[in-house]
Amino acid sequence: MRLLLVEDERDAAQMLAKGLREHSYAVDLAEDGPAAVRKVHENTYDLILLDVMLPGKDGFAVCQDLRRLGQTTPVLMLTARDAVEFRISGLDAGADDYLCKPFDFQELLARIRALLRRGPALQNPVLRIADLSIDTHGHTARRGERLIDLTAKEYALLEYLGRHAGRVIGRAEISAHVWDEDYDPFSNLIEVYVQRLRRKLEGAGEAPLIRTRRGEGYVLAEGNDVL
Ligand code: CA
Repeated sequence: MRLLLVEDERDAAQMLAKGLREHSYAVDLAEDGPAAVRKVHENTYDLILLDVMLPGKDGFAVCQDLRRLGQTTPVLMLTARDAVEFRISGLDAGADDYLCKPFDFQELLARIRALLRRGPALQNPVLRIADLSIDTHGHTARRGERLIDLTAKEYALLEYLGRHAGRVIGRAEISAHVWDEDYDPFSNLIEVYVQRLRRKLEGAGEAPLIRTRRGEGYVLAEGNDVL
């Protein structure tokens, strides 16, 4: 899942982005409202973390702009101002949730998961495809009882394919949701990661789950269960 973090305090933004990346989210950063609006136009985000105190236009105005432009991406507002009128302003501006600084990182992760569940993603936190189970809370995957040792990025790719199991997913869609803006579209990184995932998923002699559709992309599905 790919997030946009809008925060002008660079150190705080970098630290938060690092923590989120360690939890397998792809994170892009924007330092102010105009940069945020531009990035939302250029990229596909699953969630926007929006600081209220921004230079120039504040987070409420940025959120209103995004909603006026028809953006429906969930917005979680972050602010140091813990007052009921600010919460109301945030929700009225079109935010989906509101978290006060300083916040507990685990609570932020839980709220992100909750907002992502409201989207087209499945409600059940455990995705099952044949004997593969993907625990979207614990960020772990198993085939049968076998726990699969995955890096954060491998997990992110597997979860994305798992959320769309049975559907062919193109490289552009994968890079849009699993990688951040530093992804080089001319690299073969996605192929490399798919190969690694296959080795880990199927390395113990299990039935193949990830198939390549030449010229189209990849599909995670049981047997010939392809839409
Ligand atoms: Ca700020």
